[in-house]
Amino acid sequence: MAEHRVVCWDCNADVNDPYVNNCPRCGGLLTVKIDLENVKEMKPKDLHREQIGVWRYTPFMPVDASKKVSIQEGGTPLYRVEALGKALGVPKTHVKFEGLNPTGSFKDRGMTIGVSRAKELGATVVGCASTGNTSASLAAYAAKAGMKCAVFLPSGKVAAGKLAQALFFGAKVLSIDGNFDDALELARKMADEKKLYLLNSINPYRPEGQKSVLFEIMDQLAYEVPDRIVLPVGNAANIWAVYKAIQELKEVGWISKTPMLTGIQAEGSAPVAKAFASKKHDFVPEEHPETVATAIRIGNPVSGRKALHAIYDTGGFSDTVTDAEIISAQQLLGKTEGVCVEPASAASVAGLRKLRDAGVIDRDERVVCICTGNGLKDPDTIINNAQPPIKCRNSVEDISRILLS
Ligand SMILES: *Cc1c(COP(=O)(O)O)cnc(C)c1O
Ligand SMILES: [Zn+2]
Repeated sequence: MAEHRVVCWDCNADVNDPYVNNCPRCGGLLTVKIDLENVKEMKPKDLHREQIGVWRYTPFMPVDASKKVSIQEGGTPLYRVEALGKALGVPKTHVKFEGLNPTGSFKDRGMTIGVSRAKELGATVVGCASTGNTSASLAAYAAKAGMKCAVFLPSGKVAAGKLAQALFFGAKVLSIDGNFDDALELARKMADEKKLYLLNSINPYRPEGQKSVLFEIMDQLAYEVPDRIVLPVGNAANIWAVYKAIQELKEVGWISKTPMLTGIQAEGSAPVAKAFASKKHDFVPEEHPETVATAIRIGNPVSGRKALHAIYDTGGFSDTVTDAEIISAQQLLGKTEGVCVEPASAASVAGLRKLRDAGVIDRDERVVCICTGNGLKDPDTIINNAQPPIKCRNSVEDISRILLS
């Protein structure tokens, strides 16, 4: 475990109450400052090499490994996607497929650290608001840890696979009359009353685990920093986590270059992309976010300001894509690479395509798209956008005719 302090990202005050998720002094966002002095003596080869996934990177993690609650998260493939890259006009494209985590999304990286932290604190009840994947992940890790779990979901707007997971793992699933932002407000009230330990990404320990996606990408690329990393932005903690990981690797001297962080949002739910378009460092919340990519259907992103900082500081970019562009990118990734991602994840590929066409991204760039979740999470969207099954009789002639057509 790394020595660390929880501090306010805005005013730098130390924050010692583990149940507090905003700065008691200024109301600002919290972050974890990791003491990396010991790691400066290390090289990547000194990491626990036989360990795969998040816990390989314990020197960067603020939780005691003896309290580890793990389902072997991380260790996901980084695909060199030649056919997709050719189709997009960016031949050196890679896809980091986070859909192969234990519950099918990158949320597991944050949750193994967050729930281990809950265990360290002796918490017995954990909870979160969620567009789906956070609840699926927390429900699994709470089950593994033997903790009670409550999840707050926007009613009717959670993809079938994600809802099934939360129910399956035995969470108390609370269907909230409102959207994600409303659900989060409620979950936060319960946390303020100390009725539960909150494991949304406003909890500064969650992004700490999510840093590992960047550490892994660097291991997989032999520490040759890519030019650009493209990822979807919803509540905006993941892009912040990737940024923080880059800063830490630079601090210990393992990398010197900075990849341009490029955050993609859905057109109907785009406070961060709109702020970027008008060169602002803060965003205007949106009241009625709407998109087929339910995992990024968030109007008031908790880490929106951190995301904007990450984008500006790396010379990155932010833009929107339409639902049609998202579905088209999802299908292209499936057809060219045999990889099935959920719509929010396809936003990264759709964004790469749009920004290449617009000339923002060069043909020669080495790009990593982070595909955040598994397509099986949301079978309805896939089926609604696919050709229906072909009806046929039990007849060789009929079937032959169909196969030839
Ligand atoms: C949570 C999630 C996102 C958004 O990540 P943020 O950290 O909220 O920006 C994107 N895609 C999938 C599949 C997710 O589950
Ligand atoms: Zn503060």
